Amino acid sequence: MAAKLLSTSLLTLLLISLFYSISAATNEDTTTKTMEEFSGYPTDSHHSILSFSLNSFSVESEKLQSQARVIDELSTLSDSPAPAVTRILYSEKDNLARRFIKGIMEQVGLSVREDAVGNIYGRWDGSEKGLPAVATGSHIDAIPFSGKYDGVVGVLGALEAINVLRRSGFQPKRPLEVIMFTSEEPTRFGISCLGSRLLAGSEALVNTLKLAADAQNISFFDAAKSAGYNLSPDDLSKMVLAEGSYAAFVELHIEQGPLLEEEGLSIGIVTAIAAPASIKVEFEGNGGHAGAVLMPNRNDAGLAAAELALAVERHVLESGSIDTVGTVGILELHPGAINSIPSKSHIEIDIRDIDENRRNGVIEKVHKTAINISQNRQVKLSEFKIINQDPPALSDKSVIDSMKFSTEQLNLSHKFMISRAYHDSLFMARISPMGMIFIPCYKGYSHKPEEYASIEDISNGVKVLALTLAKLSLE
Ligand SMILES: [Zn+2]
Repeated sequence: MAAKLLSTSLLTLLLISLFYSISAATNEDTTTKTMEEFSGYPTDSHHSILSFSLNSFSVESEKLQSQARVIDELSTLSDSPAPAVTRILYSEKDNLARRFIKGIMEQVGLSVREDAVGNIYGRWDGSEKGLPAVATGSHIDAIPFSGKYDGVVGVLGALEAINVLRRSGFQPKRPLEVIMFTSEEPTRFGISCLGSRLLAGSEALVNTLKLAADAQNISFFDAAKSAGYNLSPDDLSKMVLAEGSYAAFVELHIEQGPLLEEEGLSIGIVTAIAAPASIKVEFEGNGGHAGAVLMPNRNDAGLAAAELALAVERHVLESGSIDTVGTVGILELHPGAINSIPSKSHIEIDIRDIDENRRNGVIEKVHKTAINISQNRQVKLSEFKIINQDPPALSDKSVIDSMKFSTEQLNLSHKFMISRAYHDSLFMARISPMGMIFIPCYKGYSHKPEEYASIEDISNGVKVLALTLAKLSLE
């Protein structure tokens, strides 16, 4: 009881100093800019439809300006011209960005370490020795031509949350740890959330990585070595963390959907992350000359793929739930000539749901249909491979309660919501109580250069994260 009273009064103190540090730094200099200008997105006439006539917001403080500058600075470590960001695993720019993050972690006063694949950890020791840490973090890799906020807000925002706590004189009981995860995006080796997946433990993943190569046929291990990570398959197996290694994990992220902005809300408290599955399918037929082979004599692998793509949509809609979604994002035909009947087709299917059984039911239907198509069209179904079939993750009640408490204390509007995109949190949930904090992003845009979150919204997210971390670290 005494301990509880103590933590409540510590939190109150923290709140007072939080408000103080924010209001004390307020300056009157109100800057009016269009969102596109601020985000660095070109405001030429072609994009004028995106421009607001007047979107004024005040630049709250030097702190906020410097946060915006740091986000901008990180976005320049990119293989595509601004405002687009391209940062691929173990590339030169990825390496520079890693150094940038380690530098900030050191400036913030965290002790920095890195694991075999380059997950970077910055730790602030707690007052009580031996307790598992409360962790937060996200990723900074970016798919080709994406934006500068996805993931970045959860890494730089986490470091700013630590700054906020330090400035307010807070002392955590449990250690606080900021994690920058390696390769959340699947761009280079086709595996998403590589760093957090390894922490959550997967022998199958280690075996996949032994054979993994990128589009240039560079193996995962060679790519890692060229970036300074000289690791062996054994090192990967050793990365696995035991359940309970962290007391909690919280990730701050842009929503990547339009709901918060549409509803005018500041914070999304994520209660569950949808379960993704991806499938590779290949059909093979005899091909032939587009003029010489008559229609009754064909077994067209391209049409088989087209039929399956439409069946994916049908089976997803049959689920009857708005939460079931399916996408055929890749459809390739071989040999890919206008006058040649496709002899091979390759399609990749992404199916997600917050209900694992319902999603798996759709996958089963798609599989049956693929078999039927191959029989009806006399093509060979040479591959139907489920690449991954991750279960959904539920946020932990104690973390949800802490996020809700913090949001209410800060007088910010909020709603409970589901994350339809998946994140490192999906895997951290396997070893730790998990929660996610969403902030609005412009029109829900993500994975493209127009992606934008206002510094005001980022700042709200940082404050909620700071208070949530503080609360969890005292529990
Ligand atoms: Zn992300």
